[in-house]
Amino acid sequence: MTRPHLLIFSDLDGTLLDHDDYCWQAAAPALAKLRAAGIPLVLNSSKTLPEIRALREELGNTDPFIVENGAAVVIPVGAFGNATDEVVNFGATRERVLEVLEDQRQKGARFWGFADMSAQALAEETGLTIAAAGRAKERHGTEPLIWQGTDDELEIFETALAEEKLRLVAGGRFLHAMGVFDKADGARFLLNKYREQYREQDGDEPLVAIALGDSPNDQQMLESVDIPVVIRGVNSEQVQLPAAKHAMRSLKPGPEGWNECVLNILVEYGY
Ligand SMILES: [Mg+2]
Repeated sequence: MTRPHLLIFSDLDGTLLDHDDYCWQAAAPALAKLRAAGIPLVLNSSKTLPEIRALREELGNTDPFIVENGAAVVIPVGAFGNATDEVVNFGATRERVLEVLEDQRQKGARFWGFADMSAQALAEETGLTIAAAGRAKERHGTEPLIWQGTDDELEIFETALAEEKLRLVAGGRFLHAMGVFDKADGARFLLNKYREQYREQDGDEPLVAIALGDSPNDQQMLESVDIPVVIRGVNSEQVQLPAAKHAMRSLKPGPEGWNECVLNILVEYGY
């Protein structure tokens, strides 16, 4: 029986990881089945490279991954015949972001960014362990910062960043200075890589791309695949996809919903 190649992209927080305790174990049955079938699972999150790398090890995942909301794609050695690990940046690099921020600081902008904090200070600020704070500081294309100026000054700051093709995105605790990209850029890039690879291997076997996410920041990633799966969560009602996309919505939240939906899709495609 012929069956298409499958490729899965997944958000982490609130999707594969539980919103409250960050556990993924409820998704273990589906994860094991993906691994056994050799179906790539591309993790795509706001987390940094070392943060996602640590989780990949825990999951036994060896596939390429997307860091910092699409700032960069990490391609492990051998994934596409590459001789070394590769990092592909989208939008501005972290060096560029820091350069623009420093320039703004010289001009009077008042803020405190991850680059200004030791791992110890960041740990105190966020409640992370010092080791985890160290991993959060190792960044490729975004700089979280705490604004210390007035609201009017913030507006001027934002305009100055926009002139340098940077933007500010509000997160839970920090403002994130970053280039113009989102989670879909990395997903589309890898989708093309896999398509090429499978075409070389066995010609015309179709590739079906699946993405799972729980929030508006997953919207574009969900729209760029064949089967979007919205995992139930605190913001999932805000994710609205075109009816033609036939989005699947999980009944259960987080990893339980993830497990259920991925197992259903695997059965549907003959895995
Ligand atoms: Mg999420």
